[in-house]
Amino acid sequence: MQLIWLRSDLRVNDNTALSAAAAAGTCVAVYLLSPEQWLAHDDAPCKVDFWLRNLDQLSQALGELNIPLLIREAPRWEEAPRVLLELCRQLAIDAVHFNEEYGVHETRRDATVMRSLQAEGIAVHSYLDQLLFKPGTLLTKSGTYFQVFSQFRKVCYERLYRSLPRLVSAPMVQAPLNISSDKIPSQINGFTPPTDRLRALWPAGEGEARSRLDTFTDDRIDDYKNERDFPAKPGTSQLSPYLAAGVISPRQCLHAALQSNQGEFESGKVGAVTWINELLWREFYKHILVGYPRVSRHRAFRPETEALAWRDAPAELAAWQQARTGVPIIDAAMRQLLETGWMHNRLRMVVAMFLTKNLLIDWREGERFFMQHLIDGDLAANNGGWQWSSSTGTDSAPYFRIFNPLSQSEKFDAEGLFIKHWLPELVGLNKKEVHNPANLGGLFRVADYPSPIVDLHASRTRALAAFRNLPSRQHAGGDHA
Ligand code: FAD
Repeated sequence: MQLIWLRSDLRVNDNTALSAAAAAGTCVAVYLLSPEQWLAHDDAPCKVDFWLRNLDQLSQALGELNIPLLIREAPRWEEAPRVLLELCRQLAIDAVHFNEEYGVHETRRDATVMRSLQAEGIAVHSYLDQLLFKPGTLLTKSGTYFQVFSQFRKVCYERLYRSLPRLVSAPMVQAPLNISSDKIPSQINGFTPPTDRLRALWPAGEGEARSRLDTFTDDRIDDYKNERDFPAKPGTSQLSPYLAAGVISPRQCLHAALQSNQGEFESGKVGAVTWINELLWREFYKHILVGYPRVSRHRAFRPETEALAWRDAPAELAAWQQARTGVPIIDAAMRQLLETGWMHNRLRMVVAMFLTKNLLIDWREGERFFMQHLIDGDLAANNGGWQWSSSTGTDSAPYFRIFNPLSQSEKFDAEGLFIKHWLPELVGLNKKEVHNPANLGGLFRVADYPSPIVDLHASRTRALAAFRNLPSRQHAGGDHA
């Protein structure tokens, strides 16, 4: 009997470990609930709820293949070896299969599980699945992990031209077993369920993920480059929660994009090329996580930036978190995060720069808060995005290129539609006033909307000085996609 241990790969189609397990023999699936570990990792309640909803769908899909899905509890990952061993003994499992996960704790957990199962004579097989390329297989000429995205991407293209990762066929229906699937809990203690409104934005299941991918690649990918920076427009795929939970695979995404671009990666339609580029940023940050594990331990990629004089400013941090900074584009973006569990990429960069540069608050505060609220929270991408924005990361924004949130607002939400959607209190302002109500002057103030908590000009100068004062200054990095 074969056991497939499901983790961040909640799908039946194009699932490497699942198909391998099913091909090797009769198969049973297991998922471990690890609420203490999830809390320690700051996993957002809406993300945990998304996992449960997807597990429910997956259980039905596996049921159609006669593969029972069992649920076991391993509150912390240290308990995973014991829990899995017990299950293996109970079901007389010959081999366990799982798809690789990255990150220090994940890697340690998997190594311990592997050792303890193998010591009992149970075979363990792990597979590359979450990424297009195995970390460690794309290295610079001197054998190190790439630190510059454009160089990494070039090597990705070379590999893709040589051999395109193939889709894996879904498992066949197996003979029914005398084992029934466990009920999927609808809620986990410690994780308050999200609103129905949030849930409705992110329906669970492979069918939903596939139809988002198809709609995007059929109707919107051609305009992606032009539309992706405007938060009021549906210019991006909104697939990130599905990719993070593994409800869809990067291979499925890549193949769909290639199909819409006559098989081209770096030429042809600019929209498809730009989108594939984003899939490679996802890849890049996961490779960074493996190659430079310090970023997985709350350390800056650029060690010299550990000396930055971050400000301890709890009231300003709270204003940022609660969407009351008095800078409309920042507050609108933070409301989007709080209410939908997702934020537009352009705004993630804008709010992250505002926190780390204008407020000069440690990027780790922002990283943690994002993780606690994002439905697509992913250690590698979140850490990469935060370290990029705070100029502490690999290939990050040069410290002197600080986004001005007002210019970003005027440029990417020119009509103020996004702002007015999330801040209805500003709906009466015209498209010039809405970006900076503080500018209205005189005695006029918008009722219920705060004055800015920080002077953008003075705080910019303060941030530049803090970075300039570092013992050894960093050099300018590349551009972010
Ligand atoms: P699309 O534009 O349609 O892109 C397709 C896919 O490519 C995304 O679903 C995502 O998987 C991947 N992708 C796109 N941009 C990036 C990027 N810059 N880095 C890595 N992968 C990328 N993304 C997450 O998935 N989880 C996070 O926790 C996360 N935190 C972020 C924090 C900050 C401060 C910043 C600046 C970015 C963060 N991102 C994160 C990256 C990016 O903002 C989101 O992936 C994107 O907004 C998701 O929307 P989409 O699915 O419509 O993306």
